Amino acid sequence: MIISGMPIIRVALDIPLPSLFDYTVAEDVAVATGQRVIVPFGRRRLVGVVMGRAATTEISSERIKPVTQVLYDSALLSAELLDLLRFCSDYYRYPIGQAVLSAMPARLRSDKPVTGKPMLGYRLSASGLALDLDAFPKRKVAQRRILAQLAERPCNLAQLKALSATAGVQLKALEQEGWVERFPESLPFGSNAPCPGRTVRVVQKHTFNNAHILTGEQQLAVNSITQTDGYACFLLHGVTGSGKTEVYVHLMHHALRRGGQVLLLVPEINLTPQLENYFRSRFPDTALASLHSGLSEGKRLHNWQQAQTGAAQIVLGTRLAVFAEMPGLALIIVDEEHDSSFKQQDGLRYSARDVAIFRASQCGVPIVLGSATPSLESYHNAQSGRYRMIKLTGRAQAAARLPTVRCVNINQTVMHHGISENLLREIGQRIARKEQSLVFINRRGYAPVLMCMGCGWLSGCKHCAGKMVLHLNEQRLRCHHCGYQLRVPPACPGCGNADLLPVGSGTQRVESALQERFPEARILRVDRDSTRNKRAWQAMREQIHANEVDILVGTQMLAKGHDFPALTLVGVLNPDSALYSSDFRAAEKLFAQLVQVAGRAGRADKPGEVLIQTAFPDHPLFRALQAHDFDGWAASQLAERKMAGFPPFVYQAMLRAEGKQEAEVYVFLDHARAAAVALRHPVEVLGVVPAAMPRRANHIRAQLLVQGATRKQLQQFLRVWQPLLDALPAQKLRYSLDIDPLEF
Ligand code: ADP
Ligand code: ZN
Ligand code: ZN
Repeated sequence: MIISGMPIIRVALDIPLPSLFDYTVAEDVAVATGQRVIVPFGRRRLVGVVMGRAATTEISSERIKPVTQVLYDSALLSAELLDLLRFCSDYYRYPIGQAVLSAMPARLRSDKPVTGKPMLGYRLSASGLALDLDAFPKRKVAQRRILAQLAERPCNLAQLKALSATAGVQLKALEQEGWVERFPESLPFGSNAPCPGRTVRVVQKHTFNNAHILTGEQQLAVNSITQTDGYACFLLHGVTGSGKTEVYVHLMHHALRRGGQVLLLVPEINLTPQLENYFRSRFPDTALASLHSGLSEGKRLHNWQQAQTGAAQIVLGTRLAVFAEMPGLALIIVDEEHDSSFKQQDGLRYSARDVAIFRASQCGVPIVLGSATPSLESYHNAQSGRYRMIKLTGRAQAAARLPTVRCVNINQTVMHHGISENLLREIGQRIARKEQSLVFINRRGYAPVLMCMGCGWLSGCKHCAGKMVLHLNEQRLRCHHCGYQLRVPPACPGCGNADLLPVGSGTQRVESALQERFPEARILRVDRDSTRNKRAWQAMREQIHANEVDILVGTQMLAKGHDFPALTLVGVLNPDSALYSSDFRAAEKLFAQLVQVAGRAGRADKPGEVLIQTAFPDHPLFRALQAHDFDGWAASQLAERKMAGFPPFVYQAMLRAEGKQEAEVYVFLDHARAAAVALRHPVEVLGVVPAAMPRRANHIRAQLLVQGATRKQLQQFLRVWQPLLDALPAQKLRYSLDIDPLEF
């Protein structure tokens, strides 16, 4: 180890190596933790983030390089956020540099300085603390006032501006004198320092549109959450229509009034302009910034900075928003916490819900997980007392009742292109009553493929194990797994027969079957194809609301968070594949989906009805659904999981590998397995198996699962196992570790 004469800084870079990188800086250059720098890396120049200083380095003094440039701009990451990212890097076994850089808006990864106001907290430096204010020049009124304020507590710019309009200029002068310093700079490296904004409690006036008088249950929920101080995790389990949103709004009001910032995380599919507008309308003069992947780079940076400066008091976003810099964070809400879109499926494979919980405990603020169908993980945690369970058991609007649920046995009824006669009759009645029906298709395993009636040929993808899906409008076959596409062949490639027919009911096929039966009906198909265009989806919603639609045909898109008052019937076509799936979470997901979709029916004063077409009408899942008995269902699922040794009773990590050569993929995983077994660690190492989609885009895919009895046990194992994996020969492979995997 060589001790260098110059100051050494540790820099996070977007490089797939688990380490930080050391550089020198000149003595007189001020560099703070969290600051962006440009450094030489091989022949490239890279943007990195300063993670701290080092007293020594293992790089020899001839080889260590100086920082090319320090970017003095507003984009300074707080010690707190860096700590959160350190935790993520460690927990998800992902290189720290890539974790840090991937959490930042793309613009901050480029080497251009960004504009924007300087942000975060200011406080007195050591010499500032030693100042005798009584001896301070009396004519410097503003500076005196700022110093006096900072002597009491650190503040951010906005708060100081309230003291003096010229705070910006004054602070610069005070900084130059060395009396005042910006917050993150002086924090000890890697410390768990408090968020500066939280140390200041200013009562903020804001307009709050109180839409409803809370129900008793809602009021109790609001009370018990607002009464807690510091970290606590609440599971708000409320049936659909119980008014969870209203509870969120009141909690937000409470936090905002005390000068705090609120982070509201929602699933990807829910973040529509309507939702944004809804919260704006409830808090008309509170600044709200949204953060999601649909924003342009410039807008994303802008909104990120709004959160960072505290200018935006509400941050509404999808999973990536969990990494938003929020100095005044006072409350986190995760809506539809069970939704799998909170899990990132590549790169840093984090669960935004779980990271949010860590963040809340790190910052000492409450977090609320809301759902009508909580994940079994969260539900189990609430039952065991790690989280606090709060229930909303009734619908908020007195008139609205939960829908009745009935099953239709598909083996005992006449079926028309996958739709039962019973369902068709019900739809006919709704049309007569000018009410809307929704025909819900579970997309999994239900897209139409092309089949030859002569030889049984099926339109398989030549790159995958998957089937090519027929898209009638475009007359194309498309592989939904790898993206490969073809024109529909005029005749069977196997036998030349021209008699090719679609099999399996896709949305389009259901649509044409319905149109055949109800030629007068106005049918609207809502799926990923028809809503690819944002404006198109907006127009569709308006059509639905104006009651210009009789029958909606759709997939998951339609299940969530949309309120269609005229909708009174939901037909569910094909839930059965999930009942006996190889994915142990399939039933949990199906239950959640059916509750969601059933929740679309009868939201207003009209009672709703749900008709489920199944070959297994006595299955406990449908029974529980009919009885609106989530608790019973969860109890039986948890008992099964416990017996079978599945999460939440074990903790899992999945090693996935893919490559062009089958042998290489399996040899790699076999070696990985052997290395794991040789460690003689108490975790359970399962066998090497093909992935659910064993071939994708010409790559062979396989996986290996490891389970531990506790998080800690699994983490200890992964810490020693991962370096062994990285040492295995794997030039032509890609592999990844997925902690708490959701996909199998
Ligand atoms: P959830 O998210 O739990 O499914 P919502 O928050 O969407 O339920 O509320 C369902 C409906 O009930 C909404 O139309 C909402 O405006 C209404 N609502 C919520 N709280 C109340 C209340 N206290 N009194 C009357 N109506 C309410
Ligand atoms: Zn054929
Ligand atoms: Zn394919």
